[in-house]
Amino acid sequence: MLLTGKQPAERLYASIDDRARTAETVPGLFALYDPEDQPAGWYLRSIQRAGAAHGIPIHARPLSEGTGLPEADLGGMIVLSKTKKPIPIPSELDVDGTGPDSFSTLYKGGLKDYPRNTPCTAEACVRLLDHYAVPIEGKHVVILGRSLTVGRPLSLLLLDRNATVTVCHSKTENLPALCRQADILICATGRQGLIGKACVRPGQTLLNVGGDAVEEQIASVVENLCPFKGGVGALTTAVLLKHVIDSIQRS
Ligand code: NAP
Repeated sequence: MLLTGKQPAERLYASIDDRARTAETVPGLFALYDPEDQPAGWYLRSIQRAGAAHGIPIHARPLSEGTGLPEADLGGMIVLSKTKKPIPIPSELDVDGTGPDSFSTLYKGGLKDYPRNTPCTAEACVRLLDHYAVPIEGKHVVILGRSLTVGRPLSLLLLDRNATVTVCHSKTENLPALCRQADILICATGRQGLIGKACVRPGQTLLNVGGDAVEEQIASVVENLCPFKGGVGALTTAVLLKHVIDSIQRS
């Protein structure tokens, strides 16, 4: 089965629309980005399109123009590009879960209802599996990548759901053998071509978050494939805007 992000994203947008319609004012998202960073540019455009479609103001600013908060009603702040020094985000605006308070929430567990400071891509991966009723409890999930925004938080979310989790990285030995052991294989390294036929077996669910898997090679082998294009990314944007609108509960 092809697991696309569109369907679960539409469900989230329906709930966002309901709440935006009845809100007195709709809070916005402050997004900082590096104009040289192409993936950040793609993500920003996706956020801007979704913001325009669902009535959520997006205040985008290049990092070089300063990081101070704009004078606007904000429900969230996100830094889309990697920076040498972390940019401080007030914890009540940390909608992508990159600050210490958010880490602490993740570590404590009990995350069934996804607090609004859950890292968005990690949340999107688990929501996608749930949407397509892919069982998680007791399953062996192998995650490729240990970044603070994807691999690490995802490992904690899945542990919370009683999966058995293996996290791989650039120094992992015997990667293909580990990948073949997975019931669910989540590829998030951004190294295109890393995962080919030798890394998969029938019956697996594979999420190609970073574009690592060669889809022409693996699609006919695995049972379920979440493709790179039209996959987790579409749902990540919806999760982000949900976190922004969830700030209304606070006010
Ligand atoms: P990142 O910070 O660069 O982290 C990449 C991770 O991959 C690191 O942990 C690295 O290991 C590991 N890695 C690199 N080469 C490897 C190899 N040969 N074997 C095993 N592991 C290897 O990247 P990121 O921010 O997590 O993003 C990862 C990818 O996902 C990127 O392509 C990004 O564009 C994509 N992404 C997609 C979405 C979406 O919504 N679709 C959202 C966010 C990110 P070390 O720690 O040892 O260096």
